Amino acid sequence: MEKPYRCPVCNAPLEEDKDAGFKIPPQCPYVGTTYPELCALHDKLYFGKWRKMEAGPNDIKRGYAKLVRLLSMMKEVIMRENVESARQDIRKAEEEFAMANPDEDPYSSVRFMDRALSYIHHAINDLLQEKKAKLHSPADYERHYDVILPFKEDW
Ligand SMILES: [Zn+2]
Repeated sequence: MEKPYRCPVCNAPLEEDKDAGFKIPPQCPYVGTTYPELCALHDKLYFGKWRKMEAGPNDIKRGYAKLVRLLSMMKEVIMRENVESARQDIRKAEEEFAMANPDEDPYSSVRFMDRALSYIHHAINDLLQEKKAKLHSPADYERHYDVILPFKEDW
């Protein structure tokens, strides 16, 4: 039997996510949510280092790669669920995302990546609303992430 390297609920790799300061909790915090995989990856981006003041070009490039993955997951789900409002929000996310080019200019890319992430959040909520499920709020999961990382690193 192969060891499960990914969380069975949210499909996140079972390792600490240093970019987001994510520590593996005993039980997946996303266990009660309708789209655990989308919400988990969204939050890893939301709390990710690329959005912080001290982010370096490589943090931004890793954030970009994660956004590529989240966008393609979103498109798959939206194709299956066929929710028009979510489709529109993802289109807007892609428009913003297309303006980002972290290889050429990582620091000005952050703004577009940030807007793309925000439209993705809207799209996730469009999907949840369609299912009459509770809307997703990253603040509910904040305690699983190391949101005060900058202060810690000073020590
Ligand atoms: Zn999980």
